[in-house]
Amino acid sequence: MAYEFERKQRITVLGGGPGGYEAAIAGAQLGGEVTLVERVGVGGSAVLTDVVPSKTLIATAEAASAIGDAADLGVQFFSRTETGRPIRPEVAVNIAAVNKRLLGLARQQSEDMKSTLIRSGVKIVQGEGRLDGPDAVIVSTGRGAGAIDFDRIEGDTTVISVGASPRVLASAVPDGERIFTWTQLYNLQAIPEHLIVVGSGVTGAEFASAYTALGSKVTLISSRDQVLPGEDADAAAVIENVFRRNGMTVLSKSRADSVVRTENGVVATLSDGRTVEGSHCLMAVGAVPNTAGIGLEEAGVQLTESGHIRVNRVARTSVPSIYAAGDCTTFLPLASVASMQGRTAMFHAMGDAVNPTEIRNVASNIFTQPEIATVGWTQRQIEEGIAQGDIYKLPLSENPRAKMMGIKDGFVKLFARTGSGTVIGGVIVAPKASELIFPIALAVEHRLTVDQVSRAFTVYPSLTGSITDAARAMHIVL
Ligand SMILES: Cc1cc2nc3c(=O)[nH]c(=O)nc-3n(C[C@H](O)[C@H](O)[C@H](O)COP(=O)(O)OP(=O)(O)OC[C@H]3O[C@@H](n4cnc5c(N)ncnc54)[C@H](O)[C@@H]3O)c2cc1C
Repeated sequence: MAYEFERKQRITVLGGGPGGYEAAIAGAQLGGEVTLVERVGVGGSAVLTDVVPSKTLIATAEAASAIGDAADLGVQFFSRTETGRPIRPEVAVNIAAVNKRLLGLARQQSEDMKSTLIRSGVKIVQGEGRLDGPDAVIVSTGRGAGAIDFDRIEGDTTVISVGASPRVLASAVPDGERIFTWTQLYNLQAIPEHLIVVGSGVTGAEFASAYTALGSKVTLISSRDQVLPGEDADAAAVIENVFRRNGMTVLSKSRADSVVRTENGVVATLSDGRTVEGSHCLMAVGAVPNTAGIGLEEAGVQLTESGHIRVNRVARTSVPSIYAAGDCTTFLPLASVASMQGRTAMFHAMGDAVNPTEIRNVASNIFTQPEIATVGWTQRQIEEGIAQGDIYKLPLSENPRAKMMGIKDGFVKLFARTGSGTVIGGVIVAPKASELIFPIALAVEHRLTVDQVSRAFTVYPSLTGSITDAARAMHIVL
C-alpha cells in the first residue's frame, strides 16, 4: 500500500494584533506552517497604542479618583505645617511617569507575545505586506534595495488582520504636540490644563473621563444629543450626569468643524460658529480600516464602501482561501472579537470543530468611571420589536454592598425573553462592570432562564447580588 506524503498546510497571517496573533497561535497548534507578517510590533495597535496603554492610564485615573472618594468613607488626608496646623495635601499625577509606565507595559506585553509566537513555531517576518493574488503575500522588508527588498510568501490559507487607524479630518490635523490622535497622547509630559475632546463615542468618553480624574479641565464636544450614541440610553444618561457633576463641560449637539493651533493652545470652531479654546485637543472621531492598497480587490476580496472586509461568521471572505479578522472586517471593533475571529478562521481552515462567532453574545465594556458593560440584545431592539423581551432595571443604590462602598451611581438591567424567561441580554453600570457582566454573558451564551440564574448563590453582600435580585424579580409565575 502506498502512503501519500501529506505536507503541512501553509498559513500566512497579515498583521500581528489580537486577530493575527490568535490566528497564528491556533494555526501552529493545529499543525500548520505559519508565517506572520507585521510592520510595527506584535500585539498590534491593541497592545501598543489602544487597549493596553489606555486601560493602564485609566487604572491611574481610578487610583486618583479613589483618593478623592475615600473622604466619603471617612478617610482623611492631611499633613502638618511647622506650627502643627493640619493642611490638606495636594494630589498630583505625574503624567510623564504614568506614560513611561504604560508604554513600558505595552512594550513588555508585545515582547511576551512575540516570544510565545516563536515558542509555538510561528515564523515572524517584519515588514509591510500585501496580497499578490489569492495565494501569496509580498512583504517589503526594508532589507536591501530596490527589487530585492521584498519576500514573496506562498500559502494555502491567508488571514488578513491589518486593523484600523484613527480617522483624520482635514480641518483638524493632529500634530502630536497640541492636537492628538489617541495614539499620540502618551507623549504628554504634563497634564493638559484644558483638554478638548472631539467625539463622544467610546474612545472619546473614556479619555474624557480619565483626564477629568487626572486633573484636567475637560470639554467634550458631542455631535449627538447624548454622549455614547448607540449605547444603552440609561447608561449614557448616568455617565453624562457623572461627567457634568465632576466638572466636565459636555457640549451636546455640537459638531466641531475645525481645530487649529493658537499661540499657546488650540481653538475648536463649532458648526454654529461658537469657538472653544483649550490647551490641547484629542480627536476621537472614529477609525478607518487599513485595507487600502494591499491587493484585496485585485485578489477578489469583497469590501464594503467603508473599506471593511466582508466576512461570514467563521471569518471567511468572498475568496475561499482568504480569511479576515478584527477591526478590518465588518464585525465589532473589539480586541476580544478580533481574537475570536482569528481562532475561528483557523479552526475552519484546518477542518477543526468550529463555533461560528455570534455577535449578539459578545460582552463589551466602556471604561469610564463608572464602567458600562453590555451583552446580548439591547433595550432599543426590544422596544423596536426586533427582539421580544421584558426589561428589569435595579439601581445599585438599593444594593447593600454598593452603599457600604459609597457607590453613588449605577444599575443592573436584565432582558429576558417574554414568556420563557430566557436571559437575552443585560447592562451593568458600576465600578468594575467589566468584571460583573460575566454571569450575564454566561446566561446569554447558554440560554439560561432568569430562574436558573437566580438559583445560583451570590456572596452576601456583593454587587453581583443585584443580578440575582433582578433575575428573581423577573420570575414568571406559572
Ligand atoms: C483607545 C482604544 C481603546 C480600546 N480599548 C479596547 C478595550 O478595552 N477592549 C477591547 O476589546 N477593545 C478595545 N479597543 C479596540 C481594539 O484596540 C481593537 O479592536 C483591536 O486592536 C483589533 O485588533 P486587530 O488584530 O484587528 O488589529 P490591530 O490591533 O490594529 O493590529 C493590526 C496589526 O496589523 C499591522 N498591519 C497593518 N497593515 C499591515 C500590513 N500591510 N503589513 C503588515 N502589518 C500590517 C499593524 O501594524 C498592527 O500591528 C480599543 C480601541 C481604541 C482605539
